[in-house]
Amino acid sequence: MLTLYNSLTRFKQPFKPIHEGHVGMYVCGPTVYGDAHLGHARPAITFDILFRYLRHLGYKVRYVRNITDVGHLEHDADSGEDKIAKKARLEQLEPMEVVQFYLNRYHHDMEALNVLPPSIEPHASGHIIEQIEYIKKILDAGYAYESCGSVYFDVEKYNRDHNYGKLSGRNIEDMLSTTRALDGQEEKRNPLDFALWKKAAPEHIMHWPSPWSEGFPGWHLECSTMGQKYLGEKFDIHGGGLDLLFPHHECEIAQSVAAQGHETVNYWVHNNMITIEGKKMGKSYNNFITLEQFFNGDHPLLEKAYSPMVIRFFILQAQYRSTVDFSNAALQAAEKALQKITDSYRRLQNLKASEKSSIEMPDFAEACKEAMDDDLNTPQVIAQLFEACKIINSASDGSVSLSAEDIGKLKDLFKVYLFDILGMKIADEGENAGAAKAFEGAVDLLMEIRGNAKAAKDWTTSDLIRDKLAALGFNIKDTKNGVEWSVNK
Ligand code: ZN
Repeated sequence: MLTLYNSLTRFKQPFKPIHEGHVGMYVCGPTVYGDAHLGHARPAITFDILFRYLRHLGYKVRYVRNITDVGHLEHDADSGEDKIAKKARLEQLEPMEVVQFYLNRYHHDMEALNVLPPSIEPHASGHIIEQIEYIKKILDAGYAYESCGSVYFDVEKYNRDHNYGKLSGRNIEDMLSTTRALDGQEEKRNPLDFALWKKAAPEHIMHWPSPWSEGFPGWHLECSTMGQKYLGEKFDIHGGGLDLLFPHHECEIAQSVAAQGHETVNYWVHNNMITIEGKKMGKSYNNFITLEQFFNGDHPLLEKAYSPMVIRFFILQAQYRSTVDFSNAALQAAEKALQKITDSYRRLQNLKASEKSSIEMPDFAEACKEAMDDDLNTPQVIAQLFEACKIINSASDGSVSLSAEDIGKLKDLFKVYLFDILGMKIADEGENAGAAKAFEGAVDLLMEIRGNAKAAKDWTTSDLIRDKLAALGFNIKDTKNGVEWSVNK
C-alpha cells in the first residue's frame, strides 16, 4: 500500500483517498515572469512521479496545477513593482503577453523533461470573481478586515480560535519577534496579517474591480480558491516545494478553515530543494541556471550541455524529501549511470531466450513496487533497475542464460518502472522513434555486410566498414550474441 509522508502529521501515512478510486491533487505551479530553472524542475518531476504512480495503481486522478500570473508573488526589490507588470512595461507588452510567452516556454521545458500535463491548469487571473467571493466568506466569518481599500486576514483572531502555525510548527509569538516592518504594514493590525485583497497603486497595470477597491488578490488566496473550485471542499493531496510550506501553505490552511469552517487537504506533500554547489539558488549568488541553459550548456557554471533526461534522472536519483546538490560532477555521474541503463536496455532487446534460466531471477517488479509504495523511493527503484541490468549484461556476454519468460519479465520491468513510472525516455522510445529505428536498421545492415565480408575473408570490405564507422564515432564490439555497436558521445 502506498504510504506518503504528510507534512501536517509529520509521519508517513498509508494513502487512502476520500472517494474510492479517485484522487484529487493540487500542486502549486509556476509564476510566469521568467524562464523555468532547475528549482522548477524538481516539484514538476516529483509530482509527475506521484501522478504517474497513482494512475499506475489504478486511480483516476484529477491533477490541478495552477499558473500564478497576477504577478503579486514577488515584487521587484528596488521598485516594489509587480514583476510581470514591470516586464510588460519595459518590453512594452500586454501583461498577458508576458505570461503567455513564459508559459509557452515553461510547457516546452516540461515536455522536454517528459512531465505529463496536469488535468487542469487554471490561471489566477482567470479566477478573480471566485477569489472575491472567497474573501467575502472570510469577512463574513469575522477573520478578515478592510483597511484603506485592502483586505487583510486577521491572524491573531484566527489563532485564538484555531491554530495558525500547525503546518509549519511555528508559533505566533516567535513569528512576531522575527517579523520585520514591511511596506504597507501601517494598514495592518498586526504585522503577521496577510493580504487577501490589495488596493492597486495608480501605476499598477494589473488590477480588477472589487467591493473594496480597484486592486488584485493576495497570492495565497488563488490556491485556496482554485483548489476548492476544481477539487471540492475536501480533497486528497496538496503539493509543492518545501519553500512554500510557510507562509504560503500555512496561510492556505487558515483561509480555508476561516471560509469553510474546516480544513481542505488530507495529505500535504513537499519536495525538498535543490542547491547549486552547496548554495541556495539566487540572483545574488549568480547561480541561476535556467533549464534551457542546462539543455544547451550555455552558462559559465556548466562544463557542458545536459539532456533533459539526464536532468530528470539526476533528480530521481534522490528521494524527493532529501536535498539535491547540483554540480557538474554529479550530473556527469547521472549521465553515465543513465547510459549504462540505456545500454543494458538495448542489449535486452537482442537477448536470445534459452530453454530455461541458469539463475533464479529476483522479483524486481515486486521490489520496485515496495520502493514506490514507501513514499516514492525512486533511488531504490533505480537501484533495482541496476541489479536487473547486471543480469542482462551477464546474459548478453553469455555467462548466464535466461528463459523467454524471464526476458519477458525484464522487458515489462523496464516498460513499467523506467518508462511509465519514472517517466524516462531513451533515444529510440521518443518522438523520433521512426528515424532512430531507420538509423539503427541501417547500421545493423552495415554490420551484417561486415559479418558476411569477414566470413568470406574479404578483409578489405570488413576493415573499411569498421574503420569508417569508428571515424564517425561508432564503437563496435564483437560479442557472443553478435556485434554490438554504440555511438560515442
Ligand atoms: Zn499555491
